[in-house]
Amino acid sequence: MRQARRAVAITLAGTALWTLALLAERLWSAEALARAAERLGTVHEVAGRLHVAEQQLQQAAQTASLTGDRVWIDRYDRLVDQVGQTVEHAALLAPLAVAERYRSKTASAAAEIARMRASALDALKSGALGSARALFDGERYGRHSRMLAEANEELTRASLAATRAELARLEQRSWLMSGGAVLMALLAGAVLWRRLSRGLDHTRGTLREAEVHIQRMASSDLLTGLDNRAGLHDTMHARLARAGAAGETMAVLMVDLDRFKSVNDRHGHMVGDMVLKEVARRLRLCLAPDDLRARYGGDEFVVVVPGRPGSIGPGATAERIVERMAEPIQFGDLSVSIGASVGIAHFPADAHTADELLRKADSALYRAKQGGRNLVHHYDARRDELLAERHKLEQEMREGIANGQFVPFYQPIVGLERRNVSSMEMLCRWRHPERGLLTPDKFIAVAEASGLIAPLTFALLRAACRDIERFPPNWRLSINVAPQQIEDPELVEQLLAIVREAGVPPSQLDIELTETALVNDTARARAVILALKRAGMTVTLDDFGTGYSSLSYLAEMTFDRIKIDRSFVNTIDKPESAKIVDAIIGLSRSLGVDTVAEGVETERQATTLRRMGCRNAQGYLFGRPMPAKDLSDRVALAKNTMAPLARQSANSR
Ligand code: C2E
Ligand code: CA
Ligand code: CA
Repeated sequence: MRQARRAVAITLAGTALWTLALLAERLWSAEALARAAERLGTVHEVAGRLHVAEQQLQQAAQTASLTGDRVWIDRYDRLVDQVGQTVEHAALLAPLAVAERYRSKTASAAAEIARMRASALDALKSGALGSARALFDGERYGRHSRMLAEANEELTRASLAATRAELARLEQRSWLMSGGAVLMALLAGAVLWRRLSRGLDHTRGTLREAEVHIQRMASSDLLTGLDNRAGLHDTMHARLARAGAAGETMAVLMVDLDRFKSVNDRHGHMVGDMVLKEVARRLRLCLAPDDLRARYGGDEFVVVVPGRPGSIGPGATAERIVERMAEPIQFGDLSVSIGASVGIAHFPADAHTADELLRKADSALYRAKQGGRNLVHHYDARRDELLAERHKLEQEMREGIANGQFVPFYQPIVGLERRNVSSMEMLCRWRHPERGLLTPDKFIAVAEASGLIAPLTFALLRAACRDIERFPPNWRLSINVAPQQIEDPELVEQLLAIVREAGVPPSQLDIELTETALVNDTARARAVILALKRAGMTVTLDDFGTGYSSLSYLAEMTFDRIKIDRSFVNTIDKPESAKIVDAIIGLSRSLGVDTVAEGVETERQATTLRRMGCRNAQGYLFGRPMPAKDLSDRVALAKNTMAPLARQSANSR
């Protein structure tokens, strides 16, 4: 662009100069033409004057020599001078060469004539008219004066011709100059055009070069020299299109380094950078030169390999990469160990577009990482579907909690002796706007895994606190607390805050914990149980017998109650189950802990349990989990009679 600008400037300056020169020339030549025309006029005039003066001179000479009249003699005298001066004038007007030729040619004749005229004049003046006439009529005077007259005529003719020629030349030059100017203008235009277009071409070329350079920079990773994310996408699109057209398969390998962050943290970013460079080098060694490889993120790399027959499979390539990356990297004395996990997605089996393939390779990588280190995983569509479903469910749950779609149902826990309600277990139900009433098996696991279990529990407890107002005061509320919630240091405080706000005494609350809640951090679990009890609540060990069933928990932690799992109650007519239930009841009695049997459905089961010494029971036999509004009969019954409830098993659910 700078070149083009310079070309324009030069051409403009040249044109300006040229125009100035042309103007000056035009002025000058107009003046020269005017002068030449004027001289032409003068030459004409001088020629005429000379001619007339010569004739007058002849006449005056004749008349003076015939009459001797003084007037004519003086006139002759004056005319001689006048002719001389006019000849001089004509010679001055004539071109130099012509004037010189004239002078040399007429010199002797002119001198002779001048002499003869002088003596004739003398004769005339002295009255010797005869000798003057003889002189004038003499052959010599006649010859010389004719010759002079001819020479004079030639002189004036030559002057005229020269002046005319000069005029013509000037005119011609003027035409030439005009033509030249037009030509020059055309030429300047052409030059300007060429320069400009050449400048533009050059600029375009430079631009293109810069573009290519920028593109190269924009599509490659400066540290490792591999493609970067943008470069990868571009090349992948092209390769997928080609493979698709040729009916070939391809595989996208997402490679993630293990322990890279700790290398960075421990040895600094410079070592981190060197590790990345070494990783790039090792990747190249594992791949064919044509295989696509890119740095996708901080310590994430992507490799695209063809699934063409003859080449080793993508799985084997991935294994090779994992093996290579596991070898320690040596920098002088420093040895750094990293590793790599790889997720693989296949084209076209798993996906058709670059974005989808990358996403699926990433999903497979996630699974590889979850499985441990140095693993290779292929994408699994079913798992992806489950994940998507889970994600959707999570989203719906979030909204459902906020919109009050989760409601507490209540199931009675009764004393086996008198069959009176001692407590209501709060069990969660989801009134899903599309799927209807959902039981916890559809969502509790997701709630626990996604951190939604705490807000869910608190929302339910708030709702239950409103329902408790209708409970007889001797009914307690059992609530389930998930293992994850034990780790929340705020748990006890938050539970207390909710019941206090509702005006429910904490002593009306029974907290059910499963064994899983105890195993991770026994000390923490013990502290929580203590805190709950100190706040006035009771604590029940739920689902006993299904988990670790470590008797040490029972000894270590001071539970108020143990719930015998449904699975033993179901099968209590079998001797093995009966033995286990018997042992649990015996153990509880010796520890001074109350027992509840769960899932009691038949009268037979209830009788067996009562005989074994189990104090409480819960199950369809005594009532299914039900919404608060369906409790009214129970409430009335309890308030009026506190009568046994054996035959009152509710059927609502
Ligand atoms: P769980 O704590 O063992 O609750 C007892 C489960 O047994 C309930 O299932 C109840 O409906 C069912 N059940 C009671 N009697 C019988 C019976 O006679 N026969 C049969 N077949 N089943 C009976 P539900 O309501 O589906 O709850 C399942 C599990 O979900 C609960 O087991 C509990 O672990 C969990 N859960 C329910 N609500 C909550 C909650 O609010 N928070 C937490 N963390 N977990 C909850
Ligand atoms: Ca429970
Ligand atoms: Ca249970």
